[in-house]
Amino acid sequence: MTRCASIHLVKIDERPGLSGIHPDALAAWVTAQGQPAFRTRQIADAIWKDGGVTTSAAILTLPSALRAALDADFRLDTVEDSELRLGDGGETEKSLHRLSDGQLIESVLMHYPARAGSRERHTLCISSQAGCAVGCPFCATGELGFGRDLETAEIVDQVRHAARRLAANGQRLTNIVFMGMGEPLLNLDRVLAAVEALNDPARFGLGARHITVSTSGVVPGIRRLTALGPQFTLAVSLHAARDALRDVLVPLNRRWPVAEVVAAAREHARATGRRISYEYTMIGGVNDTDADAQALVDLLRGDHAHVNLIPMNPVAHTPWHASPMPVIEAFAATLRDAGIGTTIRRNRGQEVGAACGQLAAERAGEPSPPVVARRRERLVMASAAALRGDRSDEPVPAGIVGPSGE
Ligand code: SAH
Ligand code: SF4
Repeated sequence: MTRCASIHLVKIDERPGLSGIHPDALAAWVTAQGQPAFRTRQIADAIWKDGGVTTSAAILTLPSALRAALDADFRLDTVEDSELRLGDGGETEKSLHRLSDGQLIESVLMHYPARAGSRERHTLCISSQAGCAVGCPFCATGELGFGRDLETAEIVDQVRHAARRLAANGQRLTNIVFMGMGEPLLNLDRVLAAVEALNDPARFGLGARHITVSTSGVVPGIRRLTALGPQFTLAVSLHAARDALRDVLVPLNRRWPVAEVVAAAREHARATGRRISYEYTMIGGVNDTDADAQALVDLLRGDHAHVNLIPMNPVAHTPWHASPMPVIEAFAATLRDAGIGTTIRRNRGQEVGAACGQLAAERAGEPSPPVVARRRERLVMASAAALRGDRSDEPVPAGIVGPSGE
């Protein structure tokens, strides 16, 4: 029987998103339209008033000719909410967004109630790419492969969507983390432009200390950030302190080995005076042994660093699960005894598929059972070889080049 291929034609909207346009470029556009300079301020106010919450209504107050010109050249909104899932009794809201070319990305809004000594927080986890080329096997986004880089406006508009939902409840966004889909340091120009817009008091206006960017270890990108000075908090995903295991868990380790990643992060902390956070996803029987804890101590001892241990979120098509809590606590104790600040992060939104990329992976469809079985078998063999200390001879994943082509 022949299978009928169905072809979906997606009309691609080439207009850039308005929220990603730099104020200088917007001023030049206003001049080119023959409009008076004060219109730049009016348009910026319309985009960013109340954190970008009221854009559509505010745009309506502009003269109609200007509105028509804006509409011809820009998109007011670049992400569409195509699904919202609530989890953790409403404390986690996961959004699946459709982009103009049909790509799917995710953002997750997490509400943390006020506690003694800390105020209520509303943290948004955003995506920097559709899919990811790094291909970490425990990550649902890695499973999807690389789609494309997000535009600046597509990054910023995830934030404006969440800010709008929060405003409806009289709440404000307090923190942004680039821990959704994608490797932010492989789309660094757009990520930096988005952070500038989110940080700028005349635009979104969120303090740099409330923005965290997480990287799987793109060394040239870390160095570029160091040269720029403190921009935001940098988090580095380690997941293993030994190269053989990290080659399997974070495949770009084959390009930038763990010692180089930590050296670049250490230099970043020294130059910026900002502490580095290391992320370590705890995978039962894979990276949670006493020897792994000791290797991590040896790697980070004496550094201005903090370690977050994250129980692995279950992801389909992997043979792995989170380490049991007593194992995670023992691992944390080894790090703390060596003077390394360590926290165990509570998993959020497991039932809504909140590990990055899970929802989009669900939409991408299930691979066939034999493909899943082969994949699991390969991972079991690769991690067993890594535990014996054998370095992987797999190549660096395709598409991994540093921001300056390094
Ligand atoms: N690509 C960047 C940022 C996005 S991933 C990076 O890897 O740092 C954000 C964090 O989620 C990373 O620390 C990543 O390792 C972690 N993560 C991915 N899949 C996970 C899973 N199934 N369980 C727990 N953490 C996961
Ligand atoms: Fe990419 Fe980060 Fe997922 Fe690895 S963990 S595949 S780097 S998104």
